[in-house]
Amino acid sequence: MKKPLLKVEGLKKHFPIKSGLFGKTSGHVKAVDGVSFYVNEGETLGIVGESGCGKSTTGRMLMRLLEPTEGTVEFDGKELTALSADEMRKTRRDIQMVFQDPYASLNPRHTIGKILGEPLLVHGVKDAKERKEKVQEFLEVVGLSAYHTNRYPHQFSGGQRQRIGIARALMTNPKLIIADEPVSALDVSIQAQVLNLMQDLQEEFKLTYIFIAHDLGVVRHISDRVGVMYLGKMVEVSKSEDLYANPLHPYTQALLSAVPVPDPAFTKEEIVLEGDMPSPASPPPGCTFHTRCPFKMDICSQVVPQLVEMEEGHSVACHLYNETGDIDIKNSRGSLYAKG
Ligand code: SF4
Repeated sequence: MKKPLLKVEGLKKHFPIKSGLFGKTSGHVKAVDGVSFYVNEGETLGIVGESGCGKSTTGRMLMRLLEPTEGTVEFDGKELTALSADEMRKTRRDIQMVFQDPYASLNPRHTIGKILGEPLLVHGVKDAKERKEKVQEFLEVVGLSAYHTNRYPHQFSGGQRQRIGIARALMTNPKLIIADEPVSALDVSIQAQVLNLMQDLQEEFKLTYIFIAHDLGVVRHISDRVGVMYLGKMVEVSKSEDLYANPLHPYTQALLSAVPVPDPAFTKEEIVLEGDMPSPASPPPGCTFHTRCPFKMDICSQVVPQLVEMEEGHSVACHLYNETGDIDIKNSRGSLYAKG
């Protein structure tokens, strides 16, 4: 049986809003507001939501690039929030990140050899020859060539630069890779190549992924399970195939309705949500989605719905489904998502 490599409980990040001459705290931006999930060894968890939903902030807190306001992050049996700066630096060997914009994350003045050799140096590989050999080996692993070591980031295409970003993440032989929108800046044809590469590497190096994206279409094939975030909270978590076949939360249904389907036998209307996502500085009371939800009921603006497991491994935070699970999910009024 697979065991969780990462377990997150009640994770919060509230940024203070400072105002006035003396910088008094006048409120908080609740970027992440009580998120819990786990990732099993060797699996991929997709985290999806619109820009500003807190998914990237969550990713950064897992590596403690941002300090959580509250909550716990257990990785490989260690509580990360309790580690000293030095212990955390050592642990980062096992958790690496791939960023959306590979160009911005690669120092333009350094050669690829230096960029890829740096993580090895930081983690104690002092021998220059050993570093060089490892860099060349990993360039080939990601589909580039050993002779690319002397080139600079601007000499590569977007897709190649993302391959370099992936190689850099692999240099320390990590267990977990957090990929934050790794293909969003790439052309669609290149996206598929990078996703395929990531899947191959996962198998080869027994990697566990957290794959953050704003588009449910992108994470579909790479994710074993998917968590959908809205305004700092996880609103639905499920095995990938269940989520796409039977999305329960009205927000997930809306996101999914915008994903093109190649199968002509499968028809669906795009659900266009009204308005924008509210500000995380003043989230609406009750269900934070109630200002845009086509199924809003009286209770929705008063009571915060909890994430409840409705079917094995499929949890949703919505008052349309009560805790006893006695609503017929498939025929409930919560299903806007029609199959033809
Ligand atoms: Fe919509 Fe209410 Fe469910 Fe929120 S709790 S998603 S407002 S039906």
